[in-house]
Amino acid sequence: MNTKHSNIVAAARKYGTPAYIYDGEELVSNYHKLKNALPSCVDVFYALKVNPNMSLVKLLRSKGACTEVCSVTEMEIALKAGSTPQDIIYLGPCKKDYELKRAIELNIFAIVIESENELSRVSKFAEEAGTTVNVAIRINPDFSAEGSPWKMGGRPTQFGIDEKHAIENFGSYLKVPHINIRGIHVYNGTSILDAKSVYENTKYILGLFRTISTRYNAQFTMVDVGGGMGIPYFQNQTALDINEFANLMQPLCNAFHEEFPETRIIMESGRFIIGTAGRMAVEVNNIKINHDKTFVVTDGGTNCHSAAAGSGRVVKRNFPMLNLTASKHATEKEYQVAGPLCSPDDIIGRNIKLKEVKVSDILIVESSGAYGPTSSPGLFHSHGYPSEVLLYKGETHLIRRKDTAKDIMDMQILVDFKAPKPILN
Ligand SMILES: *Cc1c(COP(=O)(O)O)cnc(C)c1O
Repeated sequence: MNTKHSNIVAAARKYGTPAYIYDGEELVSNYHKLKNALPSCVDVFYALKVNPNMSLVKLLRSKGACTEVCSVTEMEIALKAGSTPQDIIYLGPCKKDYELKRAIELNIFAIVIESENELSRVSKFAEEAGTTVNVAIRINPDFSAEGSPWKMGGRPTQFGIDEKHAIENFGSYLKVPHINIRGIHVYNGTSILDAKSVYENTKYILGLFRTISTRYNAQFTMVDVGGGMGIPYFQNQTALDINEFANLMQPLCNAFHEEFPETRIIMESGRFIIGTAGRMAVEVNNIKINHDKTFVVTDGGTNCHSAAAGSGRVVKRNFPMLNLTASKHATEKEYQVAGPLCSPDDIIGRNIKLKEVKVSDILIVESSGAYGPTSSPGLFHSHGYPSEVLLYKGETHLIRRKDTAKDIMDMQILVDFKAPKPILN
């Protein structure tokens, strides 16, 4: 076992499985890879929804990452992790009054407006607060990112304002009182592995910015070109070519920056930064044969890693997995790796080859740093949240403890119904 793997096993044994184990060096290196591929005029905003653990956000912040948040809690986490309000943007289709008021009170860099109604609401709150609020208008463009399995633009969604409508009506947005429109925001897709596709998407958005700023003679201070850079999960996928990405994006962004030197160029990223830096570790609880297939039953599945279980996907493909505690000369065998749920779909490895598995082995699911426990049904079967551990610079930090039965029950309120009279007496 290499040192990295033995540290993962030690952390999993110490803090309990299922556990998410993050490699701090890899996290920082992924962030730098993206940041350094872009010219210095582009700021990288880490999307907290992808993994909001405070210590991970703090580590990224310590390396200069800005933050993109989608709820007031994510906003508080960003602040706690050391982000300054001027490095926070806030977006999302449902913003509650208290959330908008908090963003206004903090004076964050921009509230990203998803509809005209929302613009009026923010204007009203700004007036009540006696201030002017910085916003960006989110546009749903007539263009969708090639090579993205989730096309967010160019089709009906709950996000942003339609491109044509926004272009026609931007003049009226600019007149809304107590509002300073910094510019525009577009987020078009996720899991994009083709550098050319990110480039085309960015070029389209910068063009849209130019159209609107020219037409209304507006001095904008922000353009958010989204992101959506992916990581490979499956055998037929290849990683984003970061050199090609750099070669395409640098001249494009530099030319834009020369034309609009006062405009902050923002790129958002979550999966690319944290995806490969996290692994889910589970412990083998039982091994059994059923209808001629060998099932390895583990203590973590859909409930803490719905992406690996393929929830919501028609074709379920295996994330890369390893048996870290296999004996040295073990040969590979084929397994069905199940989680702890009483649901036949709770499978995180289908016909997967692993070094021969024994009870109490530690298995890991690789590339699990993005969209892990927070986007999984953690309370199903009342298993609760897994532990989270950060390995960084030779030290092991527990960054979230596993939920206990008490944690889960403390959130519930017991109505004290009278017990029935004993039936047999
Ligand atoms: C989900 C989301 C992100 C993060 O996307 P990744 O593909 O994980 O990098 C960024 N911005 C917005 C608006 C999002 O909705």
